[in-house]
Amino acid sequence: MPELEPVAHPDCRVCFAADRGRTAARTQQAAGRVSDFNQMITEHPHPDNQSGEGDPG
Ligand SMILES: [Zn+2]
Repeated sequence: MPELEPVAHPDCRVCFAADRGRTAARTQQAAGRVSDFNQMITEHPHPDNQSGEGDPG
């Protein structure tokens, strides 16, 4: 069945890392980890202001 997966934010290092991890997890057929990375990307907040570096938290 088709799965809709969240897209990593292009300028977000956290999402970028999660996207890479998701790909690796899929290669290893670790469905649980793929789901974890998907959730991580989905729940990662991205404020509207893109100036400067994001604050932690
Ligand atoms: Zn992000």
